[in-house]
Amino acid sequence: MNRSRRKFLKAVAAVTAMSSQLKDLQTASHAEQARKKSIGKIKTIETFTQGPVSIVRVRTDSGAEGCGQIAPFNADISALVLHRQIAPHVLGKDPADIDSIVDRCIEANYKFPWSYVCRALAGVDTALWDLRGKAENKSVCELLGGKPRPIAVYGSSMSRDIKPADEADRLARLKDTRGFRAFKIRIGKVCGHDQDQWPGRTEALVPAVRKAIGDDVSLLVDANSCYTPAKAIEVGKMLEDYSVRHFEEPCPYWELEWTAQVAAALNVPVAGGEQDNDLAQWRRMIRMHAVDIVQPDICYVGGLTRAMRVAAMAADAKLPCVPHSANVSMVSVFTLHTLGAIPNAGPFMEFSIEPTDWTTQLYEPALNVQDGKVAIPDGPGWGVTVNPKWLAKAERGVSEHR
Ligand SMILES: [Mg+2]
Repeated sequence: MNRSRRKFLKAVAAVTAMSSQLKDLQTASHAEQARKKSIGKIKTIETFTQGPVSIVRVRTDSGAEGCGQIAPFNADISALVLHRQIAPHVLGKDPADIDSIVDRCIEANYKFPWSYVCRALAGVDTALWDLRGKAENKSVCELLGGKPRPIAVYGSSMSRDIKPADEADRLARLKDTRGFRAFKIRIGKVCGHDQDQWPGRTEALVPAVRKAIGDDVSLLVDANSCYTPAKAIEVGKMLEDYSVRHFEEPCPYWELEWTAQVAAALNVPVAGGEQDNDLAQWRRMIRMHAVDIVQPDICYVGGLTRAMRVAAMAADAKLPCVPHSANVSMVSVFTLHTLGAIPNAGPFMEFSIEPTDWTTQLYEPALNVQDGKVAIPDGPGWGVTVNPKWLAKAERGVSEHR
């Protein structure tokens, strides 16, 4: 074969390869267009409110739908905020554009920063993730790059009125019956200005629980904004004597410099951030190393999209992320999927041990602790179905695109 023929054949091969690449690209873009067409535009946003919780259902004009949840407590107020201040920026949009929808909702409400806007936005954001998962027949965990599997949880006590001996007994029982390998207990008093729930409770509780659960089970504590730095450091040294591995919200959470001072002085890792919903504040908090363990609440921070941004900031700073999930409403489902996917997931997810009637019968399948682990629901989207009977009893609100 002469040189010019070889050159010609090479050129033909290159053109053929290019054309097949081009075809692939065109097929992909046609598939993308077809997918967008089949998902349609956001047509309705419904809220279903009952007691402290409000479920959100988003539907498109092609009938695709997804369910999410507003942050629990005062959910009726958040639902009102959703219809009035969030829905106008969401209706008519492409549900695949979750990031830009979320950012638009925050910026459009710049005169009403954070709390209720973020609580309401979380409902829409988590419904859009469910919708996307169902459209792609993947769990949210898979959409984020993870795989559904059992996740280790810590049994989280919410009680400060319980006596040290009773707390120690019930945690030891839960260790035996449910296989928990970690527990969190409450110390000090909520926003307590250095006071205890009653004098001596914390000093009695920590050793009693450590003795009851044994040295091979992890012990975590939460001070819920109780202490000034000096007192937090004093309490922290005592916690170190009992090998506590997580000291949560030692100081009023808005006092970042106080918390940073405590984190720098102690060996026990300081955790925090559940109330923080301003991503710039998160950036500052992580940059100044106020906490060693990062705990955004997916519902308080404005949904999964924003919680993932916090998790990414933490990963860049080489800090573990353990989202706050203090009740067994859908926030625990969202948190399971997230922990199944992020590379900097902490060793245990928070799982409440307090029975709450407002979360039972809310969705199926219910989450169960077995051998100290809870399985990530593995169906498409969040992998759970909100109970139709629960929806029927709830107060419905709707915003519609016209
Ligand atoms: Mg906490």
